[in-house]
This record gives sequence, C-alpha cells and structure tokens, in this order.
Amino acid sequence: QQVPAQKVVSTFAPQRSNLRTPFGGQKDTYDYLVVGAGFAGAVLAERLAADGGKKVLVCDKKRHIGGNAYDHYDDAGILVHKYGPHIFHTNSEDVATYLSRFTAWRPYEHRVLAKIGDLHLPIPINRTTLNALYNLNLTTEAAAARFLADRAEPVDPVMTSRDVVISQVGTELYRIFFEGYTRKQWGLDPSELDRSVTARVPTRTNLDDRYFLDRFQAMPLDGYTRMFERMLDHENITVMLDTDFADLKQKPLAKHTIFTGPIDEYFDYRFGCLPYRSLEFKHETHDTRRLLPVAVINHPSENVAYTRVTEYKHLTGQVHPKTSITYEYARDEGDPYYPIPRPENQALYKKYERLTHGREDVTFVGRLGTYKYYNMDQVVGQALATYRRLQARFAAPSKA
Ligand code: FAD
Ligand code: UDP
Repeated sequence: QQVPAQKVVSTFAPQRSNLRTPFGGQKDTYDYLVVGAGFAGAVLAERLAADGGKKVLVCDKKRHIGGNAYDHYDDAGILVHKYGPHIFHTNSEDVATYLSRFTAWRPYEHRVLAKIGDLHLPIPINRTTLNALYNLNLTTEAAAARFLADRAEPVDPVMTSRDVVISQVGTELYRIFFEGYTRKQWGLDPSELDRSVTARVPTRTNLDDRYFLDRFQAMPLDGYTRMFERMLDHENITVMLDTDFADLKQKPLAKHTIFTGPIDEYFDYRFGCLPYRSLEFKHETHDTRRLLPVAVINHPSENVAYTRVTEYKHLTGQVHPKTSITYEYARDEGDPYYPIPRPENQALYKKYERLTHGREDVTFVGRLGTYKYYNMDQVVGQALATYRRLQARFAAPSKA
C-alpha cells in the first residue's frame, strides 16, 4: 500500500535516512503501526524496534512528536511546554533508568504557591501554609497535626474528592484551596469526582514545600522533544506526522496496531463518548528576566478564570533576558487532555475495554488509550510492561 511521501514529515535531523525514504516506495508493510508519538507510543516504538528488531511505523495527527509533553523554543527563544508544565518525577528506578538512555537530566524539585487573596501560600498545605494563613506559630509537626485534627470532619467511607480533603483538613481549608480550583479544572464539584483526583495533593504537617516527594525528580536536560527524537531515531522506525489513524486504517500496513489515542474513538464511539476535560493555553512572553517566585502559581479562586500560571525558566534553568509564561483555562471542548475519574465514566470505559479482550490485532496503551489519569512515569511504566507482554507473544513458538 502506498502512502503519499509528502506526509512523512520530520522534526528530526534531516540526515535520517528512514525519514527521507518514503516508506510507501516499497511493498513492505510494517510489523507494528503505533498510533501516537507521545510517551506511550514512543516507548513502544523504541522497544519494538531496538529490542525486538521489529519494523515500526509511528503516526501522529499532530505536526510534532512528544504528545502532550512536547516542548519547543518559542519566538523569543525560550524553551516552553506547548501543553502546559510537565515536571518529571518517579519512584520507579526502571522508568528512570530506561529514560536515562535518551537524555541527561537537570535536577529540579517542583514548588507551587497558591494565590489566596494577597498571599502566596505553599500548596500542598504544610505548616508554613497554616502559620501564614492563620497568623499562627505552630512549631512542631504534632502541633500542626492537632490543629488539622480539630478541623477535620471524618467521612466514612471516603469516596469523593471532597471527602478526601474534608476528612483531612475540614471545610474551611477545603473551600480555600480545593473547591474553586477543582470546579474550574473539571467543571464538576469535588463531590462529583473520584477521591483519587484531590488525593494527588497530600496534606503535610512539616515544612516540606515540594510538590512531589518522589525519589527521582528532574527535567530532561535538553528538553522533552530532544529526548523523544533520540527514542525514535532508529533505522527500524518511520515516523509520519500530521497523519490521522483514520487515514491509515483501511491500509493493511501492519498486522498489529498499538493505539495510544482515545479508546472510544478507536471503536467509533459505539457506546457513546468518554468524557475528557480539555484546556486552553494562553502563552505570553515578557520583557523581564523573572515574573514569578516559583515555577507554578495556582489560583483556587473562582473569580479568576484560569487555574494556574507557569514560568518555564524555573523548570529549565534557561538563562534569557526575557521570560515566557502560560495560563491554563479548563474547557469542555477541545483536545482530550484529562480522563475524568468518576464511577460512571469508569463503567463506560470498562465497556470499551471489554471489546479489547482477545484482540490479537490491537493493543491500547497510555492516558487516552486506557482512560487513566496517569503521570508521564506511569505511562512509561505501563508501556514497558506492555512491551514485555508483546515480546512474550512474539517470542512464543508459532502454533502453525
Ligand atoms: P499523549 O501524550 O496524549 O499522546 C497521544 C498521542 O496520540 C498524541 O500525540 C495524539 O496527537 C496522538 N493521537 C491521538 N489520536 C490519534 C489519531 N487518531 N491518529 C493519530 N494520532 C493520534 N505528567 C507528569 O508526569 N508530570 C507533569 O507535570 C504533568 N503535567 C501535565 C500537565 C498537563 C496540562 C497535562 C494535560 C498532562 C500532564 N501530565 C504530567 C501528564 C502527561 O502529559 C501524560 O501522562 C503523558 O504525556 C501521556 O502520554 P500518552 O502517550 O499516553 O498520551
Ligand atoms: N487541586 C486543587 N487545588 C490545588 C491543586 C490541586 O484543588 O491547588 C486539585 C484539583 O482537583 C486538581 C487535582 O487536585 O485537578 C490534582 O492536582 P494536580 O496538580 O496533580 O493536577 P495536574 O497537574 O494533573 O493538572
């Protein structure tokens, strides 16, 4: 099957022969078609090609690789994340070791402040937050724990995102830090969301103001896109950007498809659409070296339309006379960024998942492919595990 050669677009070094050669020029098909060049797709393509010796065609409907983690230099020459701030953190040594083959790292520990009135307070809530907000002098963990215990409203069982917070810090702190932010971010009240959503943000009684506590926290030294380029730069991998799966699926290019787009889309929405939350990003460059005290400021107030603002130079360490920032506005319509964790959505996903059972021709991976609110490291871990399963399958002796 021939596919128009002009579709083979590349953001990579032009000398790469596999990108210059139109793959449709020969009659060969591929062993695997990987749909999506984000973390899920790139890891699987890399493993299948470099470890499995398979010929892999990767397509992505976007004009770039990296999926949501894509970064690039903006007009001012500042490295920015097109789809909002991406901070790498993991407790998995396997995941960190695997990605370290493709990038060196810049150590970075993420800190976030919440804008509450005129104050900038650490989030996750810690002892500094409590002392500043209530003009207290809690000097020990025990004192802070007592303060919170006096306000906590036990909920049993803890089911929703409201329950999680109320049961730890009580209604007032819940309203200040979580209620408005969550309503804006998800278009739902926290009481309508699974507990796993706000449980991502812990409560602390010490002074630790890091957003994540993972053992490994760092940014790819040359950016995410450069890391993805190195993953996909293999003679067995051909990348087609600006190419929707819909344009390829009638063509018998590969016996097996790895699908990392939305699972409901793959099955033509036969049970209805899975709900996703989208975002709109407003990028700005300012003629000053630094605008924000930390990389991200959260805005929990419902009087402010956006949820958070990010200044990238904190993440990247780039030295530049200007600075670039991004405002995030949550939206119902638009590209799917977040699966929405709540029981009815999970039930609908399970209906789609059941359609995948016993399918030898397609495998679903990633945040959209498995409808899971996964961080990057979880997607990498999931993709590596998926590769091991595929490997066992193609290593097994043929039944014929
Ligand atoms: P994606 O990156 O979405 O890749 C899927 C790819 O498939 C996309 O490129 C898409 O264009 C392509 N595709 C879909 N359908 C088709 C089709 N029909 N045909 C062709 N191509 C198709 N994680 C962290 O660990 N730390 C963070 O700080 C962090 N911050 C985040 C901030 C935001 C605003 C968002 C939205 C997510 C953040 N994440 C973060 C999560 C992270 O983005 C994801 O875990 C990860 O990028 C998911 O990778 P993926 O490959 O599953 O999906
Ligand atoms: N959240 C909140 N206030 C905050 C930070 C987070 O209410 O200041 C809630 C909100 O519902 C958010 C969820 O906790 O969607 C998870 O936060 P996280 O920062 O992990 O979100 P992500 O980076 O995935 O957008």
